Amino acid sequence: MMRYLSYALLGLGVYYLTATAIWAQVQFSTVNAPSSPVKRACGTSGYSQLQEELHPGLAEQRQQLEKEVQRILNNTSALNSKTQLANTIPVVVHVVYYNAQDSLSFSRIQSNITQLNVDYNRLNFDTVLTPNPFRPIAGRMGIQFVLANRDPNQQPTNGVTYTKTNINGFGLDDKMKFTAQGGKDIWDRTQYLNIWVCKLNNSLLGYATQPDPSPSSDSIDGVVIDYQYFGGPGTGASAPYNSGRTLTHEVGHYLGLYHIWGDTNCGDDFVNDTPTSTAEHYGCPSYPQPDCSSSSAGAMYMNYMDYTDDQCMNIFTNGQVARMNSFMATAPRAALYNSPGITNIGASIIKEEGIRVYPNPSQEGIFYVDTEDADLLESCQVYCSPMHIPKEFTAAKGVIDLSAYPAGVYFLQFRKDDQLKVVRLLKY
Ligand SMILES: [Zn+2]
Repeated sequence: MMRYLSYALLGLGVYYLTATAIWAQVQFSTVNAPSSPVKRACGTSGYSQLQEELHPGLAEQRQQLEKEVQRILNNTSALNSKTQLANTIPVVVHVVYYNAQDSLSFSRIQSNITQLNVDYNRLNFDTVLTPNPFRPIAGRMGIQFVLANRDPNQQPTNGVTYTKTNINGFGLDDKMKFTAQGGKDIWDRTQYLNIWVCKLNNSLLGYATQPDPSPSSDSIDGVVIDYQYFGGPGTGASAPYNSGRTLTHEVGHYLGLYHIWGDTNCGDDFVNDTPTSTAEHYGCPSYPQPDCSSSSAGAMYMNYMDYTDDQCMNIFTNGQVARMNSFMATAPRAALYNSPGITNIGASIIKEEGIRVYPNPSQEGIFYVDTEDADLLESCQVYCSPMHIPKEFTAAKGVIDLSAYPAGVYFLQFRKDDQLKVVRLLKY
C-alpha cells in the first residue's frame, strides 16, 4: 500500500515538473527557430526534493551526511587536487533502449567514460578556455572511472548491459531502474557507479541521485542520461551537448555537488571558491559575466555544474574537488574504492610493489615500464578498454607504444603464477 501510495505521490510530482519543463520548452521555442536545440535541463534538484517528500527522514540523513562532510573538509588537506590517478570507481552503463537509435554502441559509451576521466582530472584540451582569474583554482580529482570487468554474479563483463524496453520515454519516476517496470535493475550501488542511458521525456538531459546512506536509495542510486546527449566528442551525440559533459555534470551531483548558483538567486553550493551566481547560464557566454559580488572575477559560467553548452564548460574548482573527495571518504560512496568490480576473474592482485610505469598519464602514448623481475615484464599485456580485447603488444625493453591509438584508458596487465597486477594507463 505504501509503495502504491508513493508512486501515486511521485506521479503528482512528476506531473508538476513535467508541466514546468514543457512550459519552459514552449517559452524557449517562441523566441527561437524551431530547429534550435533544447535548453539544458537537469532534473537533479527537483528529483532530490521528490525523494525527500517520498521518504520521511531522508532530508535529515542528508543533513547529517553534510555535517560529516564539513567536518572532514575542515580537518584534512588530503582532499585537495591530486595529480596521481590514485583511486578507481567501477562503472556499469545500463542501456535501456526503445528502438535501434537509442541503443548506443560500445565505443560511444567508452568515449563518454574517457571524457569523464579527462574532465575530472583536468586533462581536457580546453583548459585554455578557462578565464585567467579562475585557472589557479582549477581542481584535479585524481580519480579514474573504469567500465567494470566483473559483474555482481562474479562473471566477466564489459561493463555495459543492453535492455529492450516498451517504454518510449522515461521521466523522473525511476522506472528505467527496475526490470519489472521496463528498465534494468541496479547493480550493487556499493560496488558500481550505475549509469542508465535511455530516452527521457520533456527535454531533460539527465538527473542523478545525491550521496545518501538511506536504504531507500539502494535500488535507485546512480545517474540517468538521455541517450541523445551521451557520448564523447565526435560520436554522434546531439549538439550543443555533444562532448559528453552531461555525464560530467550529473556525476558531479552523484559525488555531492550542487548547481553552482545553488538553485536560487545567489544561492549556496557549499563550496567556497565558486562565485555565487544569480542564476544558471545557457549557451556560450562571453567573459566576464556579472555575479553576486561586484569585487570578484565574475560568474563562473564555464563550471561543469552550470548549464552552458558542452564546448563552453571546462572547470571544476579545488573546492568542488575537495567536496567530492570528502563524499568519497564517507558512506555510501567510500565503498566504491574497494569494489571487486574492476578485478579480472580468476586472479588475485600481486601484492609486491615492484613495477613502475611512467609517465602516466601520457599525452604521446609512450609509457616506460620499470621492473627488476624479467618474468613480470615478459607477462605484460596491454588491454584496450574500449574493446576489452587483448592487444598483441610486447613489453620489449619495457616500452609500451600507444601513440597510434586513440586517447583513453588502457590496462597494463602483469601475471605471476596465478596472481595479477593491473596498472591503468591514461592517454589523453
Ligand atoms: Zn544538475
